[in-house]
Amino acid sequence: MPEGHEIHRFALRQAEAFAGKKVHVDSPNGGFPDAGVLDGRKLLEVRALGKHLGYHFGKDLTVHVHLGQFGDFWEGQQPMPEPKGALRFRMWTRTDWLELRGPTNCRIFSDQEWTALEQRIGPDPLVDGTDPAAMFALVRSKKTPIGVLLMDQKVVSGIGNIYRAEFLYRARIHPDRPGRDVSLLELKGVWKDAVTLMRDGMDDRRMVTTRAKHRPHPRGVALDEEVHYVYRRQGKPCRVCGTEIESKAMAGRTVYWCPTCQKD
Ligand SMILES: [Zn+2]
Repeated sequence: MPEGHEIHRFALRQAEAFAGKKVHVDSPNGGFPDAGVLDGRKLLEVRALGKHLGYHFGKDLTVHVHLGQFGDFWEGQQPMPEPKGALRFRMWTRTDWLELRGPTNCRIFSDQEWTALEQRIGPDPLVDGTDPAAMFALVRSKKTPIGVLLMDQKVVSGIGNIYRAEFLYRARIHPDRPGRDVSLLELKGVWKDAVTLMRDGMDDRRMVTTRAKHRPHPRGVALDEEVHYVYRRQGKPCRVCGTEIESKAMAGRTVYWCPTCQKD
């Protein structure tokens, strides 16, 4: 499932190709019956909010897309390929095309629905100037484990399974620790990591969370096998203290941690 940095990357790239232009939209398999309403209109902007995308065509005309676990985009330069397989919608100009397949949600939102979405979901570290205060307050009011809270899109937007494990490791917080026992200072650290590392992930298209000094090869670009501290490293030695990394299911996904470095 794409994490928030990939959603923001889609938005940036698609805005470059399509925003400010009149676009064609269709739905070859009929999975998006409103496609005809949009065909020939100018796409005003592409919005990203946590794991949600919004294609804004005007008043009460924003196509909301949530990729979910299986959704994905295919994009390219003209000529556009013939439609094949389950295809929710296509959008194209004379120069560029994109196809959307397999999203959990794809339908037109009114402005009110989009605003309700903005209000429903937690602060997004990838939206410039976002105030994380609401996230901090919510976390610190809950007995729920912080490892569950970080995956809850109502608490904070865009953090997925990999970043959850890695941010908690870097903050030395055990995933089981109740939200209310996480200090404000620790939460500020997690937020700062999210802003910086997710932005890097978006720019570099790689999720690197290790510090150079903790990698077997500290010089140069991180190798693929040394980009994470704990994610998918269960049974392997912690890069800092040597303790075996542990894992278990939490909030429907596997969480990973170092029992020595991360405090209850
Ligand atoms: Zn450790």
